[in-house]
Amino acid sequence: MANVSHELKTPLALIRLFAETLELGRVPSEEKAQQYYRVINKESHRLTQLINNILDFSRIEAGRKEYRFAPTDVARVVREVIESYRFQIEQQGFALRVEVEEDLPNVPADEEALGQAIINLVNNAIKYSRESKTIDIEVRREGSKVLVSVKDSGIGIPRGEQKKIFEKFYRGEDSLVHETKGSGLGLALVRHIMEAHGGAVEVESTPGKGSTFNLVLPLGKT
Ligand code: ADP
Repeated sequence: MANVSHELKTPLALIRLFAETLELGRVPSEEKAQQYYRVINKESHRLTQLINNILDFSRIEAGRKEYRFAPTDVARVVREVIESYRFQIEQQGFALRVEVEEDLPNVPADEEALGQAIINLVNNAIKYSRESKTIDIEVRREGSKVLVSVKDSGIGIPRGEQKKIFEKFYRGEDSLVHETKGSGLGLALVRHIMEAHGGAVEVESTPGKGSTFNLVLPLGKT
């Protein structure tokens, strides 16, 4: 709880600081002002996502999270989520590639929850990359499943941590993880969401090279 509350305070403090500075007209240049607006924008996005994660997580823990399943075009959900974040991702220096197989069948899914799972994976790819900044997203069919994979060339995850990262509040041991803000809820939530879909989230990772997370969605009964 302390960690999560701290997580909420940091972006709020930044937003307040920059908003106050702007309001008082204490900004040396237009360029600086733009930079402050960007921080406010980015931090409020982060705050929204964090709050969404916390709310969803407490609903899940209380057994009160409701999913609304409907036949869903996963490729469209991926495209929509990515397009609304593309600017933010590329602005942070990432080369973003999205590859979607043609004519994928619909799968039973809760579009909002699925979108949130994808956002959490993309956020992690951003947070846990150093100099090499690439994000490759693929949507494809494998037998009776549709896969969404999010691949980065970041710090990677040691084998011994690859199971633990899906536990609530778990955070990795890499120094970059400690320098980076996080609540340790993101992947726990992704796992809950995927299990509710009768699917799974899988990870393949090599420390120092990068990680690939796969969301596996069953096609359901036809
Ligand atoms: P948080 O990012 O808030 O720590 P998550 O549940 O999203 O929480 O992730 C848990 C841990 O998994 C992270 O602290 C980090 O150690 C590791 N991790 C997740 N995604 C990646 C990634 N793409 N690359 C490297 N490590 C990752």
